[in-house]
Amino acid sequence: MRFNGKDLLDRLLHRIPLLRSLKAYIFVLMLIIGIVPSIIMRIGILQNYEERAVSLRASDVTTQYKIIANHLLNYNYLQDTSSDVINAELEQMSNLYDGRVMVINSNFRVVKDTYTISEGKTMISEEVIKCFKGESTSRHDQKNDYIEMTIPITGTRTEEGEEIQEVRGVILASASTDSIVTTMEILSRKALIVEIVMGIIILGIVFFFSHILIMPFNRVTQAISEVKDGYTDEPISVPDYIETEHIVDAFNQLLGRMKVINDSRQDFVANVSHELKTPMTSIKVLADSLNQQPDAPVELYREFMLDITEEIERENKIINDLLSLVKLDKTEAKMNISAVDINALLEATLKRLRPIARKRDVEVVLESLRPVTAEVDEGKISQIFTNLVENAIKYNKEHGWVKVLLDADHQFFTVEISDSGIGIEEKDYEHIFERFYRVDKSHSREIGGTGLGLSITRNAVLLHRGSVKVSSTEGEGACFTVKIPLTYIKAGGNG
Ligand code: ADP
Repeated sequence: MRFNGKDLLDRLLHRIPLLRSLKAYIFVLMLIIGIVPSIIMRIGILQNYEERAVSLRASDVTTQYKIIANHLLNYNYLQDTSSDVINAELEQMSNLYDGRVMVINSNFRVVKDTYTISEGKTMISEEVIKCFKGESTSRHDQKNDYIEMTIPITGTRTEEGEEIQEVRGVILASASTDSIVTTMEILSRKALIVEIVMGIIILGIVFFFSHILIMPFNRVTQAISEVKDGYTDEPISVPDYIETEHIVDAFNQLLGRMKVINDSRQDFVANVSHELKTPMTSIKVLADSLNQQPDAPVELYREFMLDITEEIERENKIINDLLSLVKLDKTEAKMNISAVDINALLEATLKRLRPIARKRDVEVVLESLRPVTAEVDEGKISQIFTNLVENAIKYNKEHGWVKVLLDADHQFFTVEISDSGIGIEEKDYEHIFERFYRVDKSHSREIGGTGLGLSITRNAVLLHRGSVKVSSTEGEGACFTVKIPLTYIKAGGNG
């Protein structure tokens, strides 16, 4: 199995809803902003205090030992450690600072150790060597809580009338930092208590605000729910944030579109009912008038029966057109795509329609500029050509002509169907593709139109991601141009 970090993250986010909650993010963020600085401050202040306290203690102790260093020289202690005064002083100092003192002479020999363990031993350490060069050192051992310092015992000698400073020995002293550590612990405990109290207060504030901040989004959900549940269909408004305003604007637009769709659906149902009722009314009138004349001659019966058959055929045509339209409205899962020879398809279509054209003495010609094969749904494309050529014949003049021109480039094929008919006014261009729209209702009815043909045509063209356009010079004829991609582009595909 391939490990995919993004999938894993997605799955985790979906499994733990809290990880996808804006409220939780705001809560955590505010909490971090509120609490982290006080933790950093506590640690920083305590550390600073410790450093200062240690350095103060070190300089304090060093000063004291510098004074003792002078006493050592005065009493010649480096040569003779029997001085009770000095021994008492050293003892007192080591007790005072809870540490240890060693006095080292110029041979690195420990002449005095308040712990007595190292007396007589040689002591060579980096600090001691540094100190012999005249430099006092101080080192804080944090682990064992003490400071270790070296203090030079500096004397002067006169050489050729000049006073020369020389380090004659070193005091190596340690002082405990226990008291500093204890103070630190007390301070730290107090700071922690303050921090916990502050944390609780911040937690309350953050909880309150994260709830308040998220409220406009809850209002959006509530407003949408009200529309969904049918309490209102008015546009909603939540102007609290720019973000909520954007969401609500988008929703209102969707609502508007849905209203338009709903209205057009109601119009459609009304139109359908009306269109289906018209032939029915005619049939009923014809049948009623026959019923009222029981002795009507057979000729009248025949004539009326022919009229009734004609109306039934009309009704049938409307129903068939409606079914085609409904089918085209469904998803393109129903598209039956294959490579189709468009030249052959056009020829077959024209062959089927020529008898109708002949009745009105309309000449139909096909001009193919090149052979075209395209990936299309053959049935739907055939319906497009049939509707357009049929219209060109229907809305033509006696002895007129229909010209079909097929051309293609590397991407699209175009079919241009022009006629010498009555033409279409420019104001009707966009309406003729609407369901049941007919420029001249009575003329269209007379020649068997349902007002659905161009609507079916446009839907079929759109399913192929193509376009259909109309142009016309009124009274001289119309020209419909269909442009369809040679390769079928699935929904969601590019282009
Ligand atoms: P119908 O069944 O009435 O022909 P259509 O949807 O096919 O319905 O066409 C809608 C209307 O567009 C027609 O009623 C007609 O007024 C007009 N129309 C369509 N094609 C042409 C054309 N070639 N010339 C003139 N008018 C046309």
